[in-house]
Amino acid sequence: MKFSGKNVLVTGGSRGIGAEICKVLANFGLKVWINYRSNPDLADALKAQIQNDGGNAAVIKFDATNEAEFAEAINLIVQSDGELSYLVNNAGITNDKLAIRMSLDDFNSVIDANLKSAFIGSREALKVMSKKRFGSVVNVASIVGEMGNAGQTNYAASKGGMIAMSKSFAKEGASRNIRFNSVTPGFIATDMTDSLSDEIKANYLANIPLKRLGEAKEVATAVAFLLSDYSSYITGDTLKINGGLYM
Ligand code: NAP
Repeated sequence: MKFSGKNVLVTGGSRGIGAEICKVLANFGLKVWINYRSNPDLADALKAQIQNDGGNAAVIKFDATNEAEFAEAINLIVQSDGELSYLVNNAGITNDKLAIRMSLDDFNSVIDANLKSAFIGSREALKVMSKKRFGSVVNVASIVGEMGNAGQTNYAASKGGMIAMSKSFAKEGASRNIRFNSVTPGFIATDMTDSLSDEIKANYLANIPLKRLGEAKEVATAVAFLLSDYSSYITGDTLKINGGLYM
């Protein structure tokens, strides 16, 4: 895959899908800024692994829901590298409950972590990318933002919001050659899905045409495509990575 840019920031990059995105992008020659919020050891270990494999990585701590911290991190990256070429808004959480039992705090916690963080990152990236008239942003949304899911009204709203927001950013960024796209993973094997009961997992599997869970790497390669020059005429789009669960 070909990349005209040189560096990328991946939020929530120290584990799960984010960590795979960091590894894949480092393999393609990008300098990877691994964002973490709570576990420096994991982020440092990933950085060491990427460097051992001949890649270039740096670790950067911030809470993606914190406007000042996120903006400062992007400025620091620009000061260090002269630009931010790519951003992946991957940080996310779930806080599942049936709607009748969901407090406003439960709702807001997920909107903040998933949607507000992606807004802050996209806005700050757009500012710095505009100066170079180049950039590509990928938002890691979810199949739940397309289909809805019982017990996930907060998560569905946040991910559906990310998809719609990407399209608006795409329209604002296009005249400056800055692209915004979303990916919508289905059921991917990570810590986030590990906690689901065997019954829920079996139910999902029965409905996935490819008859298996997805791997984090399969999301990472799709993200790499949407960042790369290979997708240079794609913006405002949503790429499904779900084994056929939702077509
Ligand atoms: P995960 O293993 O639970 O990892 C989530 C990552 O997000 C962690 O690195 C976490 O950092 C980070 N994070 C959460 N809140 C943050 C904040 N405020 N600031 C900075 N980082 C924050 O989840 P995953 O499965 O890899 O999911 C990654 C993304 O894919 C999420 O947006 C998720 O919604 C989406 N997704 C996942 C699936 C799936 O089946 N797994 C399907 C569709 C979409 P800490 O280590 O500090 O907590």
